[in-house]
Amino acid sequence: MSAGADGRTSLTRAEAEVRAAAVSVHSVEVALDLTDESGPTFGSRSVIRFSSTTSETFVDFAGEELTAAVLNGRPLDLAAWSRARIPLTGLQADNVLEVEGRMGYSSDGEGLHRHVDPADGRTYLYAMSFLDAAPRWYACFDQPDLKTRCTFDVTAPVGWTVLGNGPAEVLEPGRWRIVSAHPLSTYFTTLVAGPYASVHGEHDGIPLGLHVRASLRAELEAQAPDMLAVTAASFDYYHRLFGIRYPFGEYHQAFVPDFNAGAMENPGCVTFRDSYVPRGRITHAEQGTRAGTIAHEMAHQWFGDLVTMRWWDDLWLNESFAEYLAQRCCTEATPYALWTEFGIARKDWGSVADQSPSTHPVAGNEAPDAAAALQNFDGISYAKGAAVLRQLATYVGDDVFLDGLRDHISSHAYGNATFADLVGSWTRAGAQDLPAWAQAWLRTSGMDTLDVEHADAGVRLVATPSEGSPVRPHTVQVGVVDEAGALTVLDPVTVGSEPSPVVPVAGPAVLVTPDATDVAWAKVRFGPDGWERVAAALPTLQDETASVAIWNAVRDAVRDADLDPRAALDLVATSLPQQRSEVVWDSVLAFARTQLAGVYAPVGERAGLAARVREVAWRLVDGAAPRSDRQLVSFRQAVRLETDPDRLAAWFDGTDLPPGLGLDPELVWSVVERWCALGTGTGLLDQALARDPSASGQVHAARARAARPDAEAKAAAWRLLVEPSPAGAYELYATGDGFWTAGQEELTTPYVARYFAEIGGTARFREGWALGQVATQAFPRTAATPEALQAADAALRTDLAAQVRRAVVDGTDKIRRAVASLARWP
Ligand SMILES: [Zn+2]
Repeated sequence: MSAGADGRTSLTRAEAEVRAAAVSVHSVEVALDLTDESGPTFGSRSVIRFSSTTSETFVDFAGEELTAAVLNGRPLDLAAWSRARIPLTGLQADNVLEVEGRMGYSSDGEGLHRHVDPADGRTYLYAMSFLDAAPRWYACFDQPDLKTRCTFDVTAPVGWTVLGNGPAEVLEPGRWRIVSAHPLSTYFTTLVAGPYASVHGEHDGIPLGLHVRASLRAELEAQAPDMLAVTAASFDYYHRLFGIRYPFGEYHQAFVPDFNAGAMENPGCVTFRDSYVPRGRITHAEQGTRAGTIAHEMAHQWFGDLVTMRWWDDLWLNESFAEYLAQRCCTEATPYALWTEFGIARKDWGSVADQSPSTHPVAGNEAPDAAAALQNFDGISYAKGAAVLRQLATYVGDDVFLDGLRDHISSHAYGNATFADLVGSWTRAGAQDLPAWAQAWLRTSGMDTLDVEHADAGVRLVATPSEGSPVRPHTVQVGVVDEAGALTVLDPVTVGSEPSPVVPVAGPAVLVTPDATDVAWAKVRFGPDGWERVAAALPTLQDETASVAIWNAVRDAVRDADLDPRAALDLVATSLPQQRSEVVWDSVLAFARTQLAGVYAPVGERAGLAARVREVAWRLVDGAAPRSDRQLVSFRQAVRLETDPDRLAAWFDGTDLPPGLGLDPELVWSVVERWCALGTGTGLLDQALARDPSASGQVHAARARAARPDAEAKAAAWRLLVEPSPAGAYELYATGDGFWTAGQEELTTPYVARYFAEIGGTARFREGWALGQVATQAFPRTAATPEALQAADAALRTDLAAQVRRAVVDGTDKIRRAVASLARWP
């Protein structure tokens, strides 16, 4: 190993400020030699032209081997390369730096990732530079506010597809040149290269491309019309919204293997996880989720790519905006109305994060270095930020909100900006009191609770802050549910440190709900006898949006030990079948299965409660029309609750299935995973792998192996999680997921203490996203015991890598809440 590959120092904010003040980058030209597609490394040469007002700085290079570094014709001391930095001394006003070396192909989804498709043995590459991985594939000044024009010269096998942040010109067979039309931040530079299969299109003069591994060509072709239609509608929507045309030329969307995030907004060449091109049936709701991601990444082309944050402390702005605008765009311009999914899935994600000890303000996190910034890239940045922006649009008015946004984008196009700049734009557009609003909503953490207080002829809303925070102002609409389940939505009221004025409630109210339109960022409760009222109203409540807010209250009340999980399960049994949205079915059933009948139940009660959830799932399956999405969604849950291996084996053979329901590859694997969790045999697993040796099949097989109730299988799975192995990141995540299967506590209990003792050591051989994600997936999520909490607290007193610490803190909060709730049981 060479001198510079001895680990990395994360760039600090102070270092970034000093470097940005001194250095202006004029261009980066990168030459990559990818002809040795099976070797451990590839060749990378950067030529960086920049001016400097200081005599020394450093360039980032995280290769395996540095073979040359030449500054203004003068060779630099290669031995000075350390911790992924090359010191540059004797700088002039104008400089040319040449850096050449060998870079490692990655297998963790960051840097230049290589995937060999087991379906056909072909090699696929893509580059993921976010958050600080660009120096893993080329030398650069890696920080968001040193934007520059980039040229990538790529030598690769003839016949490959090569894509990047600009049109790829073929110079000769096997050589491509990609030139970015505009300055780019390093974190969103990319390259996609390999024998990808493609579908092309065009909209409003913008060339469009969709790309996937060749083994998924048929699936891509089947899904392409929907994806292209969403892309086209979103371009029209954003062109109207921002008033600036999409500036980056062609627009490619590549669905790539082993991708860690949902997608990455590289200008002109977005990368997505390839599960968005599923091999099985896709429901309308899943198409909607995908549409949301497509629209999210498109919003970033303006908010993030055209105007980029100066430092990572404003990362939330990128994500909150993209999330918020994607919901708006899809709901207003495509067939996918996404606010229900946002409410039931995304808000719950953010709400759990905002109530964990690891919570943080949406904005104004110091982000002292790049690695720290990644820790705050969570449900708060996305879901809470988007919900808060939705509140802001209500608070300042939509016209002011959008005028300010347009002003911000046009004032800072092609450059960098801060949140203070955006506040300036909104204030110019007419917003009042924004600093106070931003202080209350963006610079504090935690959730207020909105509750109902009955008064003469009506109700008042009362807000209680989370510990240590001031109450925020909430503008919400109270809903009144009558005996027939009809909802009346009242005029908006504002509640803050003072209770709201009395809202008159006419007629017999079964339930008064504080947030009928689900626009609040708060926990909601329903008055002193609220849960009895919910039990009376929810079974007949017809309004989907109001129901979502109530289901979220049910979930966070269980987590707060405010609501007995058995009472919550009663609500699921009486009320879920009447809900119309399959997204609600799916989320609530999953909660009932994994929480109410899982970690929130004593070990001895789990099987009995799971039987109740299974009964509900089957009522949903039986009540759904043949071939409907509702049938499929509830059957998927029923499979995961099945306890009879013979019944699973019959489904595997395609018999005894619900009417009209066909098996697709994903459903087959779900059956196999459950079958493996119930017994020690491997018959179905072997058959399934023989039928489906694809990358996706391998991931499912990893989950199935780890789920087997067999001491040897558990030991083998554990070694994968805590020791170095060549297994891909997806296989590791699936292994952690399968390992902690409810009902196997006897086998898994010894591993609870081992997790806390051993997980810290994984930082010696894993990094970045994979380090944190494996620690999250391998967390003993079924172990709600005082002993587990003690072991967790002991682990947290040791020195843990930031990603591991975050996984342990969040996982521990979940089991701590379950332990508190379990005190309700006799
Ligand atoms: Zn995003």
